[in-house]
This record gives sequence, C-alpha cells and structure tokens, in this order.
Amino acid sequence: MDQRVTTTGMETRIRWAVAVDLKRCVGCQSCTVACKVEHGTPPGIFWTRVIEMEEGTYPAAFTVFMPLRCNHCSDPPCVPVCPTGATYVRDRDNIVLVDQDKCVGCHACVVACPYDARFIPESDRGYFAGHKTPYEEATFKKWQVGTVQKCTLCVHRLDQGRMPACVETCPTQALIFGDRNDPESTFSKAIRDRPRFQPHAELGTDPNVFYLT
Ligand code: SF4
Ligand code: SF4
Repeated sequence: MDQRVTTTGMETRIRWAVAVDLKRCVGCQSCTVACKVEHGTPPGIFWTRVIEMEEGTYPAAFTVFMPLRCNHCSDPPCVPVCPTGATYVRDRDNIVLVDQDKCVGCHACVVACPYDARFIPESDRGYFAGHKTPYEEATFKKWQVGTVQKCTLCVHRLDQGRMPACVETCPTQALIFGDRNDPESTFSKAIRDRPRFQPHAELGTDPNVFYLT
C-alpha cells in the first residue's frame, strides 16, 4: 500500500491528508480523547485538540469548532531546522516523524512550527500525584522526557491498513482521511466542490489538513 501505480505505469507517492468538515464537527472532543487513549500522551499534552470560535453577531451568532493537529505539511519548516535529523519526512509518504533517540530537545522545531503542534514533556509525572496508573506505566514508556513528540498520523495504524484513531472515532464523520495525490480517494472526493482553506496557507507550508467550510 506504499506506492500506487497509475494507469500510465508511473509510481506516485502517497500524500496522506485530513479534511475537517467544519459543518459536521460538534466539538465533542472525542478525537482529542481518542488520541490521548491511543498514544498515552503525558498530562497537559494534546496532539489534537478542538478550539471554539464565535462567528457572526447577535442574533445570528454561532460557534464553530475547529480541531487542530500537526498538518504533516508538504514543506514542513520543522524539518530543515533540526540539527540532528531527528525530525524527518518518511520516504514512502509525507508523514512528519520524530526519532526520539536522535532528538536533543533543543526546541528548534518547536519554534519553527507555526502551528504549535510540537511538545516536549518535562517530566514523566502521571495525571495523579505520587504514582502512575498501570495504563500510564505502560504507555509512558514510549516517550522520552526532554524530547519532542507530536501527532504521528497514527503511523502504526496506517501501516496495518487502519485509519488514524481520531478519524475512526469521530461520531459525526467530520474527519475525512485519504491520499491527496489520488483524485479518487475518500479525501479528494470529500473536498471536491467544497469551499475550503488550509491553515495559514500564506506561510507556504502547504498543510495536508484542509478545513471544509
Ligand atoms: Fe469534532 Fe469529530 Fe472531534 Fe467530535 S470527534 S470534536 S465531532 S472532529
Ligand atoms: Fe512540522 Fe508543524 Fe507542519 Fe507539523 S504542523 S509538519 S510540526 S511545521
């Protein structure tokens, strides 16, 4: 599933992307929780989160819920600033990952990311004072204190042919996942004919998250 072969026999690289349908998101935070459960991230660290914004003016004011996460940018500014090569783009697709064994916690990528999508846990403390729950004992082993962590697009699930946990969990199907390079993918079909924007497109990072309005 790493490469697709086109009708012309050419191989094309996969470019995973997420469409967020702002008309469907109800702000339930199921994606936020699904991500926490899937990855066992430390207290205070949310690889995906949903913010609330007020639009319009009374009496026609309404709330828009906007899920945020790493955009797995096509031109990610977090990658070239990394002095050790710890932050990299996976060869077979566009997923931006971190090799914790190479990360020296210098914060260069944290500063370079315009989307606040990177986190460095400062301790291995759990949610409850004085002890870790069995779940935390099991999941925190994955994270090294003082090194960067961020959304992996659930790369471990993708490699098993599964959807990212947030996409699978969303009860309103507001998150639509697929290959941006495949015009017939679920993602490409979902964004077709819909008004949309990429977050801070003016920065030239070409995010692989699109918001459908
Ligand atoms: Fe919105 Fe779906 Fe996340 Fe709920 S799970 S907040 S509906 S994107
Ligand atoms: Fe890098 Fe930030 Fe783009 Fe994610 S959102 S790829 S961390 S610049």
